[in-house]
Amino acid sequence: MKTSAFAALRPGEKLVPYSVERREAGPRDVAIDVLFCGVCHSDIHQARDEWGGGLFPMIPGHEIVGRVARVGAEVTRFRVGDLVGVGCMVDSCRSCRPCEDHHEQFCEKGCAFTYNSTEMDRKTPTYGGYSSHVVVTERFVVKVPEKLDPAAAAPLLCAGITTYSPLRQWGVGKGMKVGVVGLGGLGHMAVKLAASMGAEVTMLSTSRSKEADAKRLNAADFALTSDPDTFSRLKGRFDLILDTISAEHDLNAYMGMVRPFGTLVMLGVPPNPAPLHAFSLIGGNKRLAGSLIGGIQETQEMMDYCAEHGIVSDVEVVPVASVNEAYERTVKGDVRYRFVLDMATLAR
Ligand code: NAP
Ligand code: ZN
Ligand code: ZN
Repeated sequence: MKTSAFAALRPGEKLVPYSVERREAGPRDVAIDVLFCGVCHSDIHQARDEWGGGLFPMIPGHEIVGRVARVGAEVTRFRVGDLVGVGCMVDSCRSCRPCEDHHEQFCEKGCAFTYNSTEMDRKTPTYGGYSSHVVVTERFVVKVPEKLDPAAAAPLLCAGITTYSPLRQWGVGKGMKVGVVGLGGLGHMAVKLAASMGAEVTMLSTSRSKEADAKRLNAADFALTSDPDTFSRLKGRFDLILDTISAEHDLNAYMGMVRPFGTLVMLGVPPNPAPLHAFSLIGGNKRLAGSLIGGIQETQEMMDYCAEHGIVSDVEVVPVASVNEAYERTVKGDVRYRFVLDMATLAR
């Protein structure tokens, strides 16, 4: 079926109106009218081909909230009209060990990402949520509780799960000191979620103008990373640091703020590799880890947790045609704290 969208036709080019054909809903598919789609920094990295190997034309968008328009005959969990979400993945092999363990992002055959990827046939390109509708197999669709504002819930599908998952993996709770580096889309969700789990959260940012917001988001402390004193004041402080910086930075300096046996989890994906001195880890038996989004089951768990705790993203909703400006402002750190595209503004 014809799908209206915004796409980057070539690496680094401005996004323009575009249209593609999507498959009709098969027996296990859910066809979704997209209401809102968040703008993740990963969309920008990929539309600009900063990670290499991008597939163009590219329709980005993996923070999708919409209403079910049609369901296939074998679909059991969704009905027409349901509020639903789609995140970073739209399929996987479903039978390998990671898939059976609900970690579809690590599917041994390689999962089908929502865009800049292919379906499991490895031929059909996938196109993301900057579009009028998406067609996704039931297993990769998440229920969005009606009590959540749909625009503010959209970023939960990536920024929410990407920060919720490591907080759960490292057992964050009362009495733990958590540092969150970078107050953007991921960072602001990390602060809200970690604080809601009982942790004492310090926001580490390059932007003094975000200090008041950090406190409003329930950070107990704020530290400016452009001030060298920060790194001595907070030396050995944190049980866990979530690093969401999207650009080059000195990991060694941040490891210094991890307590012995503590962990720094890399969530941000700067385009270039970072130098790391062995002593940054050896001095204190520290761990450097990474975390990639989260499985579908955990994404549903996160969504339900957010509904229960009244947590959504702080969003700036803009018309789809403003997407290029939203990209520019996100790269400058000028967003409070997630742009969300209003798909009702898309010409169809
Ligand atoms: P974002 O909204 O642009 O936030 C990134 C924040 O990093 C900025 O707000 C800024 O915070 C800080 N920052 C930016 N440039 C910096 C620099 N040169 N030095 C120090 N700090 C800098 O981006 P996002 O959507 O949260 O995504 C963040 C990163 O996570 C991206 O690389 C994205 O691709 C990646 N990501 C990873 C996963 C995963 O599964 N691991 C999932 C989604 C996204 P301050 O103004 O507070 O300093
Ligand atoms: Zn994302
Ligand atoms: Zn698999």
